[in-house]
Amino acid sequence: MERTRKAPATATDSPVPTALPGAPAKPAAGEPTTRGPRPKRGVPEGLWLKCDGCGATIYRKEAEDLLNVCPQCGFHWYVSAAKRIEQLLDAGTFEEWDADLKPADPLGFRDKKPYAERIVAEQKRTGLKDAALTGTGMIRARRVACGVTDSSFIMGSMGSVVGERLTRLVERATAGKLPLIIISASGGGARMHEGILSLMQMAKVSAALARYSQAGGLFISVLTNPTMGGVAASFASLGDLCFAEPRALIGFAGPRTIKATIRVELPKGFQTSEFLLEHGFIDRIVPRKDLKSEIARVIDYCGG
Ligand SMILES: [Zn+2]
Repeated sequence: MERTRKAPATATDSPVPTALPGAPAKPAAGEPTTRGPRPKRGVPEGLWLKCDGCGATIYRKEAEDLLNVCPQCGFHWYVSAAKRIEQLLDAGTFEEWDADLKPADPLGFRDKKPYAERIVAEQKRTGLKDAALTGTGMIRARRVACGVTDSSFIMGSMGSVVGERLTRLVERATAGKLPLIIISASGGGARMHEGILSLMQMAKVSAALARYSQAGGLFISVLTNPTMGGVAASFASLGDLCFAEPRALIGFAGPRTIKATIRVELPKGFQTSEFLLEHGFIDRIVPRKDLKSEIARVIDYCGG
């Protein structure tokens, strides 16, 4: 059988934008873009969107009615943590936990600007205190503990506050015997600005999840674009069930980093949901519109 050989795939052929763990704040991958100057992250403006998946110009309202999914190609755009909660939980049922936890700057870290200043700017821009939102609510009348990370806040990276909020979420889910849902949208992995304090969050959340598991809890991890670095390497991969949104970028180091390190061409579609499903890393690809029903179904099936 003869095959026409195509030019080897490069990292830029990836269907979703790449993101490097620990990279400084960059626009969230897959976020809607409008014509003209790029809008601020998490603050979409304008009537029309250009789809990052198919390049079509889409009426914003139409995409929003489809939970920020392209009506033509099914591309899943970025959605903020607050919007995720709204899309997933029954209206008016969300009760936030640990809203008073705020990030500190224990190392006096600075890169392009001091971390303390960066935190304030990110809080102002996103309306979040840090990159995670946690609490409880109902999914089709089933009570759950629910956490979401938001890639627009310093790449959704996990510092002390994200780790602490998620750990407390897991502990409350354990105590209350609640099904646990964590939706990951973290392109940044462990947050470099907090050094070792960020790194220890991976072990902390994972240990809480181990205790939750021993207590018989059901943890559904939902991976969205992007889920990278220390987030992918800890709680996001520890679900009893791991769901992923279509065409999400999921991995540890970004494809460019891996390619530059091992100097071989990466397989086509490397680090996408579809590739990871094929290789057994995730359990199911769930389009955003089906997520709520799928989670409710799994909870029932598992006797939650
Ligand atoms: Zn599209």
